[in-house]
Amino acid sequence: MAHNFDIVIIGGGILGTSISYFLSSLNKSKKIAVIEQAHSVAFHTSGRNTGKVHAPYLYNPEKKKLFAKSAFLGYEMWEKYAELKKLPFKKDGVIEVAVDQKGIKVLEKYLKWGKQNGLEDKDIELMNQEELKKIEPEIKCESALYVYKDASTDYSTFTNAVMKDSKEKGTNFLLDTKVTEIKKENDKWKITLNDEHEIFAKFLINAAGGEAVDIAHNVGVAEKFTDVHFRGEYWKVPKEYNNLTKSSVYSVPEFPEYPFLDPHWIIRVDGSCEIGPNAVPVFSPYGYNTSENIKEFIPKMLEMLGSGARKAIFDKQFQELAMNEIQSSMSKTAMVDRVKRFLPIIDANKITEKGTAGIRSSIINEDGKFVPDVILVDDETSFHILNYNSPGATGALPFSAHIVNHLNKTGLFKSEQEDSECGPWKFSEIIEKLQ
Ligand SMILES: Cc1cc2nc3c(=O)[nH]c(=O)nc-3n(C[C@H](O)[C@H](O)[C@H](O)COP(=O)(O)OP(=O)(O)OC[C@H]3O[C@@H](n4cnc5c(N)ncnc54)[C@H](O)[C@@H]3O)c2cc1C
Repeated sequence: MAHNFDIVIIGGGILGTSISYFLSSLNKSKKIAVIEQAHSVAFHTSGRNTGKVHAPYLYNPEKKKLFAKSAFLGYEMWEKYAELKKLPFKKDGVIEVAVDQKGIKVLEKYLKWGKQNGLEDKDIELMNQEELKKIEPEIKCESALYVYKDASTDYSTFTNAVMKDSKEKGTNFLLDTKVTEIKKENDKWKITLNDEHEIFAKFLINAAGGEAVDIAHNVGVAEKFTDVHFRGEYWKVPKEYNNLTKSSVYSVPEFPEYPFLDPHWIIRVDGSCEIGPNAVPVFSPYGYNTSENIKEFIPKMLEMLGSGARKAIFDKQFQELAMNEIQSSMSKTAMVDRVKRFLPIIDANKITEKGTAGIRSSIINEDGKFVPDVILVDDETSFHILNYNSPGATGALPFSAHIVNHLNKTGLFKSEQEDSECGPWKFSEIIEKLQ
């Protein structure tokens, strides 16, 4: 194994893998490595999500401009990539429903935001209950936003394909390899892998998902932030429900400032259907089961009590919402009831199989507030991406190109070339579309 790299990226999720692809396209002779502790890329959140390629109607164009633009552009990039590589991409739309009068105003706002973020009249339409009933007779709601430009895919397959392309451009992927220590030695990073080997890097990119904030703290940045992990669980529904609706159904979130969306009715890219995800607080970014959560309980509680998260966990509203999520984790009926508000025909007794849970790590600031946006931290010889949450998978390609451009512009890491063909895209064109 080589010991000296120009750039080391920690995290082989969809983000780290996509960043490596653009970096290796612009830097033919630089040595680049992606380090991933799991045995494959996209093993964690990137391969355990709802699989939607989201249209950007949920994002305020003034506050979340980059995220909205990344989602908008991500859709057309993944569509093109899927066509080229023969990967699954099903344009099946999504319906956002308002189950009460209050929600109708929110849908009107989403329609406005969607259009400001680039959606056209043909992509998105507000409907009253009668109009929706004609298309989706099983859905009960006051009003609905039909988003035609939304698709389903499998992000694990996408990430694996991007890894293959990135490898062809020269990136080294070190799988089954955990970064266990990072230290600055002279002007380089000394990175210990699996507690035994050492490698050196001139520049470090932290795209470590649920561990990103810990790694940032390790190198002395982003100290005012901490994170809380939420497990999103799913239930698979029996085949007899596969044609209940034509599109997936989401409901207007009641408390958008917290990371608790109500579970959705999901049609997966293979046509199977699921209910989920909820958002159950857990103690580890890998807290899929009880033993991992017990192991991490004390260290995580101590970390939270000594940080801004303390205020969040003692907040009454947060506690009420979290209890609701815990209840829907312990009781299948409680979870199904949340979806029955808009799809009353479902019978919880017919649902017996759990889906694959995924974990979201939400960042809390020193005031105990959840940070709504992605956090990018520039350091002299490192760069950190924190809070990269939904719809992170949708926007991963353009967002990664943005990061590589940002490193170039700031001089943090100057690429050998300013522009390059990157598969079906030209780097400069992606950047231009993001402006
Ligand atoms: C329940 C749920 C549903 C979602 N649904 C959607 C959706 O429908 N559409 C959408 O666009 N987005 C969705 N998202 C969001 C999306 O999945 C994420 O934004 C995206 O996957 C984040 O990618 P990532 O590469 O940053 O993180 P990850 O996929 O978590 O990758 C980070 C990687 O870093 C590795 N790592 C961490 N620390 C170390 C270390 N010390 N050494 C080595 N490796 C390390 C981890 O093993 C991991 O593989 C969803 C998220 C969740 C939780």
